[in-house]
Amino acid sequence: MPPVRVLVDMDGVLADFEASFLRLYRSRHPQLPYVALDERRGFSVEAQYRQLDPGLAADFVRNIYGSPNFFLDLVPIPGAVEAMQEMFSLNETEVFICTSPILKYEYCVKEKYAWVEKHLGPQFVQRLVMSRDKTIVSADLLIDDKVDIKGKLSNAARSENNLDNQSFNTVLYLFHTHTFQQGSTRQ
Ligand SMILES: [Mg+2]
Repeated sequence: MPPVRVLVDMDGVLADFEASFLRLYRSRHPQLPYVALDERRGFSVEAQYRQLDPGLAADFVRNIYGSPNFFLDLVPIPGAVEAMQEMFSLNETEVFICTSPILKYEYCVKEKYAWVEKHLGPQFVQRLVMSRDKTIVSADLLIDDKVDIKGKLSNAARSENNLDNQSFNTVLYLFHTHTFQQGSTRQ
């Protein structure tokens, strides 16, 4: 029986993107409107800030997470590092990190590797997968905070617990590796 291959998302699952974003945004732009953490809705920070003020997204929001050290300095979500180490130690489980880098990749890509080494150790550096399309990565499970994972094979990705789209709770997607390898849809 092959091990269960698990992909774990980074931002919002292992690393606290939202809290770091808000802290840096408010320190840089104390005069601008902001969205408190308990008022955040939807997956995209930029989309919600654009609703607040269309000028904010392009000029200020993207610059926050495009800044040097933003991704490196993200604080681990409580319990996430311990959960990864525990999964890593299980014989029947093969765990990888699967993350989508931002398109302004200059700092993001390198810093994601550095974050993983700093918080999870070198054994996870070789288990870091970066892909803008997570559906093309073959695995049994994906643990992700994004509820609408889309991509080349997205039609078959399904939410196990059918959470509301506005929720930031972790969503588990179940992928059937054997059907994926045959090139058919996942069920
Ligand atoms: Mg995420």
